[in-house]
Amino acid sequence: MSEEVKKDLPGGTSERSLNFLEEIIEEDLKSGRYKSIVTRFPPEPNGYLHIGHASSICLNFGLTKKYPGYTNLRFDDTNPVTEETEYVDSIKEDVKWLGFEWKNERYASDYFDTLHGYAIQLIEKDLAYVDDSTSDEMAAMKGTPTEPGSNSPYRNRSITENLDLFARMKAGEFPDGSKTLRAKIDMGHINMLMRDPVIYRIKHAHHHRTGDKWCIYPMYDFAHGQSDSIEEITHSICTMEFVPHRELYDWLIEQLGIYPSRQYEFARRNINFTVTSKRKLLQLVTEKHVTGWDDPRMPTISGLRRRGYTPESIRDFCDRIGVAKRENMVDVGVLEFCVREHLNKIALRRMVVFDPLKVVITNYAGEDEILHSENNPEDPNGGVREIPFSKEIYIERDDFMEVAPKKYFRLAPGQMVRLKSAYIIKCEEVIKDAEGNITELHCTYIPESKSGSDTSGINVKGTLHWVSLKSSISLEIREYDRLFKVEDPTDEEGDFKEYLNPASLKVITTAVGEPALANAKFDDRYQFIRKGYFCLDKDTSSSRIIFNRTVTLKDGWAKEQKK
Ligand code: ATP
Ligand code: MG
Repeated sequence: MSEEVKKDLPGGTSERSLNFLEEIIEEDLKSGRYKSIVTRFPPEPNGYLHIGHASSICLNFGLTKKYPGYTNLRFDDTNPVTEETEYVDSIKEDVKWLGFEWKNERYASDYFDTLHGYAIQLIEKDLAYVDDSTSDEMAAMKGTPTEPGSNSPYRNRSITENLDLFARMKAGEFPDGSKTLRAKIDMGHINMLMRDPVIYRIKHAHHHRTGDKWCIYPMYDFAHGQSDSIEEITHSICTMEFVPHRELYDWLIEQLGIYPSRQYEFARRNINFTVTSKRKLLQLVTEKHVTGWDDPRMPTISGLRRRGYTPESIRDFCDRIGVAKRENMVDVGVLEFCVREHLNKIALRRMVVFDPLKVVITNYAGEDEILHSENNPEDPNGGVREIPFSKEIYIERDDFMEVAPKKYFRLAPGQMVRLKSAYIIKCEEVIKDAEGNITELHCTYIPESKSGSDTSGINVKGTLHWVSLKSSISLEIREYDRLFKVEDPTDEEGDFKEYLNPASLKVITTAVGEPALANAKFDDRYQFIRKGYFCLDKDTSSSRIIFNRTVTLKDGWAKEQKK
């Protein structure tokens, strides 16, 4: 990403201006409409949260951090079939990990009794009726955006009959889909969602919290807004696709005379080269295109966490992309930029050689010695670590060239380089096996060139990372790339899974690291010098230490694409 783009990112320069929701809230507080505000984050527990949800979380919780008030976590669990306790637990873990605290943990299913009472109120006011039409029949009577719909033959049932039928629906007398409860609004309404929307359906299904108590369940529109009112949510923030639902939201509040929550909409945030839909992510999991919801290639919060993203970097990302009214695709490079910025400040520097080439330092007569190197040059309190140096070391195979072009500053016959935090070495001899493969290099070192006390007067341009052979530990490295080959896999012909990137995971089993890495901790973040940012993976065992590459040091993707 160019400096230009970085500067243009919202939040990239000085204080950003208020977003439209902050403007509304400041106005509401100033006018005295509210003394404090209440928001909610309302996930449906049918999958793991993804980076799009992070925007909604940061927005809802961020507003009540900035202004007086609080945020509820509400599980929108009105659909018994797709919801599971596993998802509820993961959602709570993710919100907490992102650094937010909810005031109340609520479930739409807690309100099933109240919602059922509201439905009876509507029937009693002759504002709802039981309809026996099939879904096809209902669709046929719905009309089109330009033509009005027609009334159902069941629309004029008496209040008594409706009350009786609704009670029998609840009692389990009718099979799934045979009847619905519909709001009686206007089949000629210009807004199709106001044409007698279904508010209750029959579903003989076990619910993850209410068990078998119910066989009728409220529809989204008859649960969401009402739950907002029950919790006295002041600003109910959702995504743009709910704009047409707002009229029904307001109508139900008015007819039921309940707390006047208000709905506001903002644009969904999607990032390129991935999908952000729980339903699609679930397919990737169940069809085993990834190892699970927390596969480090997934755009889920748990995947990003396992990959090494920090909560700070995700909050920074959400802040930078900001809140908008217009949908747009955010470049994943922005997310990577945010994590690099944070990791650069906190990551411990370590040396790891991915493809080792042995170097023998022929004039190194000394005993093994312990050198020191800063843990993090960005952090004055970061301290130093010990690095053993010895006669035999490893360097990266591609840091050596037998026939080097001009301006090649790495190692080549007769050429000198500095070993990071150690000495300057010079390549004297290349050793090969019978097939002509390079098996080791013989070098000499300059004893006066020790980093920190260099009196050699020699200037070299290249600095290489290295690992002492004797004390090296072997590591497995997992490098990740874009999960999809195209920017928007859902916008292509055919199934989105046809566009999966077959090279999204590269496993390197030859890597060797400095001994300090034997004590790596899951919460620590590392920069492997000249390689990228890494963190320990949960697959690590006593016999295998595994690191995930969070992100490269620089944005290599754009360059790669131009080749
Ligand atoms: P999905 O299609 O992934 O299932 P959803 O909107 O159905 O998404 P919910 O569990 O209903 O998921 O979402 C909880 C909250 O997060 C809602 O307020 C929703 O509007 C918001 N949200 C979901 N996806 C995004 C996104 N990509 N960008 C911003 N907010 C989002
Ligand atoms: Mg949903």
